[in-house]
Amino acid sequence: MASPSLSFLAHLLQEFIHSNSLPESKALHTLILKSGLLFRTFLSNRLLQAYLKASLPSDAHKLFDEMPNRDIFTWNIMITGAIKAENTNLARKFFEDSPRKTDISWNSIIKGYAQEGNGSETLALCSRMIQEGHRPTQFSISSALQEKNIVSYNAILTGLSHNSLAEDCLIMFKELLLEMEIQPDHITFAIILSSVAALANLSCGMQVHAFVTKTPVFENVFVGTALLDVYAKCGNVEDARLVFDTMEEGNNVTYSSIIIGYAQNGYGREAISLFKEMTACGIQPDSFTFVGLLMACSHSGLVEDGRYYFDSMKIYGVVPDNTHHTLLVDLLGRAGCLEEAREIINRMQKPDAAVWGSLLGACRVHKNLELGQVAALKIFDLEPSNASAHVLLYHLYAECGEPEEAANVRKKMRRIGVKKDPGYSWLEVDNVVHNFVADDNSHPRMNEILLVLEEMVTSIEKAGYVSDVLSFREDGRKSYHSEKLAVAFGLISASVEKPIRIMKNLRICDDCHITMKFIARISNREIIVRDVSRFHHFRNGNCSCGDYW
Ligand code: ZN
Ligand code: ZN
Repeated sequence: MASPSLSFLAHLLQEFIHSNSLPESKALHTLILKSGLLFRTFLSNRLLQAYLKASLPSDAHKLFDEMPNRDIFTWNIMITGAIKAENTNLARKFFEDSPRKTDISWNSIIKGYAQEGNGSETLALCSRMIQEGHRPTQFSISSALQEKNIVSYNAILTGLSHNSLAEDCLIMFKELLLEMEIQPDHITFAIILSSVAALANLSCGMQVHAFVTKTPVFENVFVGTALLDVYAKCGNVEDARLVFDTMEEGNNVTYSSIIIGYAQNGYGREAISLFKEMTACGIQPDSFTFVGLLMACSHSGLVEDGRYYFDSMKIYGVVPDNTHHTLLVDLLGRAGCLEEAREIINRMQKPDAAVWGSLLGACRVHKNLELGQVAALKIFDLEPSNASAHVLLYHLYAECGEPEEAANVRKKMRRIGVKKDPGYSWLEVDNVVHNFVADDNSHPRMNEILLVLEEMVTSIEKAGYVSDVLSFREDGRKSYHSEKLAVAFGLISASVEKPIRIMKNLRICDDCHITMKFIARISNREIIVRDVSRFHHFRNGNCSCGDYW
């Protein structure tokens, strides 16, 4: 017998499912078995659907057991079938047994428990779903909040904020505020503020701040710490300090948080002075404190202090981990002490890509090709498609006068499919967040933005700026990195009294960095750029990073 075409069979089965034609489906099942096509999972999946639709779960289970291959659709069909038959226990068994779970699997099982009114299990599953990196639907969230109180809200909010779903977290918080009978507690505010900090949304942070001052939890140390973290992460270190100073009790978490805040913003001396104050008060520093302290030394170029504090960790019984080592390597690399940095790495038990990356970055700045190559090879051993290491190595070769080697790195990147993450920047004006991507015209004021930018570039060129970027958009106009588009938009839309605050998902490039310095001087505006590794405060033609980042 000639084998029937697979697509024809699939089509027939679809028709039978639609019309619920059971005898025909069974006949096709026999045909599929005889033709040895049961291994074609998509056909078997359709048969499963036909049996479940016809309320014949035992036939479906028999077929499920016989199937030589199963895919994620197979498992999801069994889960949803069991839920439709109101057999939540069986659905749970399929759910737990399925080797991979998709958003559909999660949302289906949650729906099952919600339907039978099992609130605690719904809530537990919804939290677990978010923790495992899946995004709940609105239905799942409202199901999980059926039996509603602040504990259930906090459970879901925690999950969302821990899984980089900060925007979802804020949306849910706004819904919570509409619930007259539920009051947010100190845990709620701490969670919300950490989401606000992750988004670096200053105006939202200020709104929550104003709100929280009217509640009894205002004096809570967790809320205070979260609030100072918001200001620090938005580059507003003065207000972070104000919050710190108004907190009644200082402990190692509050001190460490303000030290990190100062560190990220390039205020090394202030961070060290707070560390001294903290230890003088008898507060024991921990691993987190030293991360802040070393970051402070690194971001402010305080080499001697950095060496001293790294060595003093043992006095406080804190064992340096990879993060501390990476910060020290960064600090030494910045100062050009490349061999010493290499020595530090040699002393590490298990150096990771981050610490080698730090050394590679320093080799690029100091044009040390030999050591840079060693660092790059170590990174490629650990992470063969590490994009930033490839890009750094490319620049290192190009800047050391090795264009052919640089071109080889580019070729290799194409061959093995290494892609740079697309860069984007965002800034908030009047409570609206505006996103920018290079060459993306979707912003309604893009024409104006490009005009301002072109005029600005002409004026800063007169002041001595030489652009080293020459790429063009499809319409023939010059192409600009996202932070340049963002700063132009800031110039035409943000209040002149306030700094222009820009967030960027990647490290700012050399050309944008120089451009920002010039623009800050010519326009007499303060520009703050938070890139992936630190803050840059541009004022009067200078940057707080001292041109090392
Ligand atoms: Zn750039
Ligand atoms: Zn800078």
